[in-house]
Amino acid sequence: SLNRIEEIFKEVELDDSGTDTLKENAEKEIEFKNVSFAYPNSEKSVLKNLNLTLRKGERLAVVGKNGSGKTTFVKLLCRLYDPVEGEILFNGKNIKEYDYKEYLNLFSVVFQDFKLLALPLAQNISGGEAYDKLKVLEVLKNTGLDLSKFKNAEETYLYKNFDDEGVNISGGEGQKIAIARALYKDAPLIILDEPTAALDPIAEAEIYSKFDGLVKNKTSLYISHRLSSCKFCSHILVFDAGLIVQEGSHEELLAKDGLYSKLWNAQAQYYQENSRRLDIYVLSY
Ligand code: ADP
Repeated sequence: SLNRIEEIFKEVELDDSGTDTLKENAEKEIEFKNVSFAYPNSEKSVLKNLNLTLRKGERLAVVGKNGSGKTTFVKLLCRLYDPVEGEILFNGKNIKEYDYKEYLNLFSVVFQDFKLLALPLAQNISGGEAYDKLKVLEVLKNTGLDLSKFKNAEETYLYKNFDDEGVNISGGEGQKIAIARALYKDAPLIILDEPTAALDPIAEAEIYSKFDGLVKNKTSLYISHRLSSCKFCSHILVFDAGLIVQEGSHEELLAKDGLYSKLWNAQAQYYQENSRRLDIYVLSY
């Protein structure tokens, strides 16, 4: 959101003087070339010599333990920070050369620490006072948000700050609203940064199974420490301490003796415990 961007502008001085326009080029290829990064006022290298390509229409997953640099990678991709070393190219040209706002508009991002406002549900989704009612209702339906407790449908306020009939929402409902916001923006690249971390496995399976269909031919990026969330992605990058330590498809990575299969096996137990519930869910979906 804009607030977020303004907050970060206070923290770092980004050079937003780029003027190149990218409309006709939209939706192509993004490349990280030898990208390294440390946060301002920190010595610690958080991303180390990243090399990767995100192609049009691809579903890319980034997995790894907490603190391995996944969110920082997204922040660089969305130009909330610039690399300390190396460069990020969009269609072969450094992203700094593009008009900053236009570049940002390429992305719909659901950050894990998204914020909802004490405003009507629809405004939380459109990001402003104006909204297209039919589109709001459509994206809400697609996320599977149960509207029965929202007395005035999309006009219902979130929280009770400004309206006694406002509703308090659960973590899972909040995440569905945040995802609806990303879908409403309808940008060519969509990023889910661990949006389901607060959900139980059933709710998570529900969101991911729907999302895969919703993003259709958009380029999409999924960030998660839960490996099962990313099984449907065509390409998976495994982050560890700021490095890409493995990459490939789920099957390829599982067949190798590396961090991916180690994390997978560690998480498998958790999923086995829930698998009966998951099977039932998948059958009834
Ligand atoms: P992940 O998304 O994989 O959990 P992050 O990208 O959030 O990992 O964090 C990577 C590393 O960067 C961690 O060591 C974290 O403590 C550090 N870090 C994250 N945000 C900041 C910040 N704003 N300033 C300094 N260090 C940060």
